Amino acid sequence: MLEKIAERLQEVIGKHGTVYRVGGDEFVALVKYGEKREPYVQLAQQIMEVIGRKMEVEEYEVFITTSIGLSFYPNDGEDPDTLFQVAEVALSRAKEFGKNNCQIYVSSMKRSTFKMYHLEKELRKALKNEYLSIEYQPRIEANTNQIVGAEALLRWHHPEWGTVLPSEFIPLAEEGGLINEIGDWVIRKVCEQIHEWQSQNIEVPTISINISAKRFLKKGLYETILQATTDHQIEPSQLEMEITELSLLLLNDLVLEQWRKLQNLGVRIALDDFGTGYSSINSLRKYPIDTLKIDRSFIQYLEENVIDQAIIKALIEMAHAMGTRVVAEGVETKSQLQFLQQCRCDEIQGFLFSKSLPGKEIGQLFIQKMVIPQEMISSEKRKTFNPIHRILLFVTCHPIKQTTDNE
Ligand code: C2E
Ligand code: CA
Ligand code: CA
Repeated sequence: MLEKIAERLQEVIGKHGTVYRVGGDEFVALVKYGEKREPYVQLAQQIMEVIGRKMEVEEYEVFITTSIGLSFYPNDGEDPDTLFQVAEVALSRAKEFGKNNCQIYVSSMKRSTFKMYHLEKELRKALKNEYLSIEYQPRIEANTNQIVGAEALLRWHHPEWGTVLPSEFIPLAEEGGLINEIGDWVIRKVCEQIHEWQSQNIEVPTISINISAKRFLKKGLYETILQATTDHQIEPSQLEMEITELSLLLLNDLVLEQWRKLQNLGVRIALDDFGTGYSSINSLRKYPIDTLKIDRSFIQYLEENVIDQAIIKALIEMAHAMGTRVVAEGVETKSQLQFLQQCRCDEIQGFLFSKSLPGKEIGQLFIQKMVIPQEMISSEKRKTFNPIHRILLFVTCHPIKQTTDNE
């Protein structure tokens, strides 16, 4: 794969400069391509496009994304070390923005404000223009294959960047304040969707919503949920809030009071990604958690890892003793399912049953009520083969020339 990438890089850069592989999946290019900055950015875009084309490596179809950082001689540095470092800073910025991104180095103060400004601007635009949407992944009762719930998952379709994954933009939205606005938007949208299903006489199972720690710990979540459910004439008991362990770490009496008020309203609380954070079994005892979601990382190697098997078995037993339901996340194979059934795991969520689907399609599944487990056939596995995040370090060389103030 690296050879193929090198060939493609050579194809684009060849005429204008030299490409070096500096280790791992990092390349450096020294390029002389005119005096203005725009052509370099265009060249970077061309590189991302060419590298992003389908690549066949053995039996895999691989789609590669590229991150590029640019630095310019002599403005950003006058010696190779400085130029290299500065390009690396720009590269790390590019990676933060997600797949296929190119960043030009700007001085440190400008950099962080530029990043937040850019992202917030695009996210705000997305909120306003409905580039954000919600998909739903069903939760299946382990023994009956019946749909007993669904998790609302946020999707961002950027008109130029394509699909941006929540794992890429949620952490950045959390850094700024926008996560709260997005969170409240999700709550309202989900209530609106439930109302729509109900008006079509569809029996809707519990819908769970991811609540970031920041939102959970901020005042007014109770009021927002009450308002949204009242506005859309739905029962709060149709909702479950998924919180992560971070929320538990930062919990105070006021938030706990809000939590209890939500539960009195009928809203269920789930602990998400259990096992990945710092909280212990103790938190199950201490806090009134309705549902425990065991993280995918425990399920992934279940077949071969006897320690994971023992942990899951014990976790389920313990949770049951405390009256907590257990959901296994990221279940992909029938043998994982069988093991979880043996351990009396309550619910299964994962590609074995279904990926997340738009509202209309999941509505049809709710009508059917059941989903039959289907292991992914190899062509589908190909499609979901994780894109490899290529890192391309790109140092461009500006012609040696005194820049004027105007430039
Ligand atoms: P999560 O809450 O753990 O959501 C489950 C993630 O696992 C989803 O990824 C889902 O598509 C993926 N998944 C489900 N089944 C399988 C499987 O069998 N195999 C594999 N490999 N993956 C599976 P997604 O949609 O990319 O979401 C990623 C994370 O982004 C979520 O993790 C959640 O933490 C966050 N997120 C998504 N929507 C929202 C939202 O509305 N608000 C907040 N605050 N966070 C959200
Ligand atoms: Ca979740
Ligand atoms: Ca999870």
